[in-house]
Amino acid sequence: MSYRSRKSELIIAVLLALAAMILPACSSSDNGAAGGGSSNSEAMYALSTEKSSLASVESLAEYDLVIQNGRVIDPATGRDQTATVGIKDGVITKIAPGALPCEGDCQVVDASGLIVSPGFINTHTHEGGGMQFVESGQAYVQDGITFWLGGNCGYSPNGTSMSMPAWLDEAELQGLYNNYATLSGHNTLRRNVGIGFNKPESPEQITQMAAILEGDLAAGSFGVSYGTFYDPGGTKEAMIALAKASKAEGGMAASHTREITFDLLNILFPYDGPAFTPSFYLSQKINLVIFKDSITEAIDTCKEADIPYIISHLTDMAYNGSITWALDTIQQAIRWQGLPLASDVIGYDTFKNDFYALTRYGMIPVGTLFKMAGVKPEQFWMAEDVFVDDELYMAAYERMTSVSQAEYLAAMFKAGRAHAGPDSDSGSVAIWCNIVDPVSTMLAIKRPFVFMGNDGGVGRNSHTGAVDVQPRSYSCFSRLLGHWSRDLGAISLKQALFKATIAPALWLGLDKKGRLQEGCDADITIFNPDTIIDRAKAEAGQLDLPPLGIEYVIVNGQIVVEHGTFTGNTPGKVVRRTWQIPGNTRQVIALYHKRFPLLPF
Ligand SMILES: [Zn+2]
Repeated sequence: MSYRSRKSELIIAVLLALAAMILPACSSSDNGAAGGGSSNSEAMYALSTEKSSLASVESLAEYDLVIQNGRVIDPATGRDQTATVGIKDGVITKIAPGALPCEGDCQVVDASGLIVSPGFINTHTHEGGGMQFVESGQAYVQDGITFWLGGNCGYSPNGTSMSMPAWLDEAELQGLYNNYATLSGHNTLRRNVGIGFNKPESPEQITQMAAILEGDLAAGSFGVSYGTFYDPGGTKEAMIALAKASKAEGGMAASHTREITFDLLNILFPYDGPAFTPSFYLSQKINLVIFKDSITEAIDTCKEADIPYIISHLTDMAYNGSITWALDTIQQAIRWQGLPLASDVIGYDTFKNDFYALTRYGMIPVGTLFKMAGVKPEQFWMAEDVFVDDELYMAAYERMTSVSQAEYLAAMFKAGRAHAGPDSDSGSVAIWCNIVDPVSTMLAIKRPFVFMGNDGGVGRNSHTGAVDVQPRSYSCFSRLLGHWSRDLGAISLKQALFKATIAPALWLGLDKKGRLQEGCDADITIFNPDTIIDRAKAEAGQLDLPPLGIEYVIVNGQIVVEHGTFTGNTPGKVVRRTWQIPGNTRQVIALYHKRFPLLPF
């Protein structure tokens, strides 16, 4: 190759790079264009800053909504300035310092003292029961969530009685508070082809499941979710086959992993968490982790199918010091193997689960389980009344007092499950488990590949109609910003916003979301950084308390929540995937390092 041609190639490359930089991230008509790119976003910020000096002469501009006097933070570009945001037809059309004209039907939001952020993106959640997914979205929007991905942990929202295309069509007809997308569940697919609880799949059944999944993906499903924790019958072979089917159609995968992990060192030499203690530090060096396959099965599936893959609610799955091993293992697979892996966490210390499932369906004696996880009976309390022989044995919210009591309950649930039949996955009872070590959450949210997922869902008691919900449904993001970031200082405000907005948007290929830029969807959350905090707790009457400090939530250009009150607007849309999910973890990490260069990874 001559010097001349190399030079001309260089010139063309520079011109192409310049053209790419000038193209704003949100100007593309195709949401499928992977990424969006930090360079594009930065160029756009430069352009918008330059143009801002012209703002005062654009008096003819028209907006439906103008947000003024707020501190506008866009983690994608690094913008952090007092500016005015103009919105027209659901799109951010102007961001500039100073005033924007607001005439006629235009509405003004005064964001003085508040932060104006891209709306929060929730990568892991559930629809609740049936068409209660509208109510679930209503819970989430109060927490600033403007986009959520349901269908996690192995269960499709449509169940076995409705197809995914029919579900999405039906969902479209509901009045949605925020934007909604979903996954197809492995366990639901198993039921669709007649596989009973804890039974392995035959090759023919795997082919049948893959065919249904392909139909789901064509209708807009984001991919496949696994829940081998809830139905251990699902095989790794089936997981990989479904991952390949999802990847072929541009989809992703997410898993509630098969087992919870424990660190043997902490079992032998217990550390009395939550705290950083000598044994905790030592365990980080030695890592004698039990049930390692739980994480490696997910990583193998990701690698075999080369599919964008989220390992779900990691801090709820890795106990007794094993979180660092889990995080490092995922990080090394990203760094050294280039795998499109990510993870998500809930950020709550307490969750509700099936007590029988926690004992691995009666396989692990409760006393052993408590020792392995480093927990005590008092960390568990009933989520519902428990009756033995029609007599009330323990009332809802009553705490366990001894290992023998827990063992008695486990034996009773085992008998209940046996009574329900070998193929049944019912027959247990839900309990509150205050066992997620806050140290684990603090360690996990520091990693750039860890997103936030509330793992929520609103249900209703079929007899009383009372709300059946976990507190996290209302407060995952307000807790991130108020509790973990502001009060405990685990990460900075801007790191928290990066995690809540651009990181998942880049990864999922949502090119017009998670960004506060001209041309992007007007999904915006406005909050008070001094007062934002979660309030919902796993206590009677406090399950569904909305957070404080989230002053406005705007979805597709319309105000949905204003000072904690619903406006009646339901502008949310069903987001059907038409693009290939990029799962570009390395790009997310690279942008994170650009924004926060002094932090180690
Ligand atoms: Zn789960």
